[in-house]
Amino acid sequence: MSNRPKPLVAGNWKMNGLRAALKELGEMGQGHDAALRAKCDLLICPPAHLVYVAAAAAIGTRIAIGGQDCHAKASGAHTGDISAEMLADSGATFCIVGHSERRADHGESNAAVKAKAEAALRAGLTAIVCVGETKDERVSGKTLAVVRRQVRNSLPDGASAANTVIAYEPVWAIGTGLTPTVADVAEVHADIRRTLKSLMKGEAAGVRILYGGSVKPDNAKALLSVDNVDGALVGGASLKAADFLAIAAAYR
Ligand code: PEP
Repeated sequence: MSNRPKPLVAGNWKMNGLRAALKELGEMGQGHDAALRAKCDLLICPPAHLVYVAAAAAIGTRIAIGGQDCHAKASGAHTGDISAEMLADSGATFCIVGHSERRADHGESNAAVKAKAEAALRAGLTAIVCVGETKDERVSGKTLAVVRRQVRNSLPDGASAANTVIAYEPVWAIGTGLTPTVADVAEVHADIRRTLKSLMKGEAAGVRILYGGSVKPDNAKALLSVDNVDGALVGGASLKAADFLAIAAAYR
């Protein structure tokens, strides 16, 4: 336990939340008391229109605010996109890149994800690089090969333990209520750590590897106790402060 990086429990609100949702952030800030702050970091990634107000609302708490995606370029003719610099200017300190919904809905390749992760680093943000296999890939025994390829080809140049987080999110576990067994999670996370070692040498031990996919208050303790699981990326259960804090409470 003692060699583990400090865990991170990150919430991905996806395309959910109007300004009224920020009251949840206030409750999260209160629940992230000194005892819990000593054990784990909390991060909320709201939709882009809330990043600035969420960052302002989080002042005085230790809850970090992040974006859910960024463009690889700092500025330009890219209607509807947001750059890492814009997120940083709004008060974000993290940015998720390569979420499976972006990879699937927007055809993002590993190279595109890598460019976005490098943009996050350029802007001074910590990149959360998402990887994970589909159901078909798991059933056909390709999980480790797929995840290895994603890590190798999506990891930003200049990645360090301080500026890069990996989130292992089996695509079939996201939003479905299904989760891999703890043995399966342990196998993939150990393999990610080995891949990171081959790419980053000694720096790899400090990289936080999050598990994501249907993490809920009732399964958090089991999933977050697995070796090489350094926190969670939480979708649905991050929308309500009570659920999100109950997940983080696995570290109390
Ligand atoms: C996610 O969106 O990254 C996620 C893991 O969602 P959920 O927790 O709802 O499965």
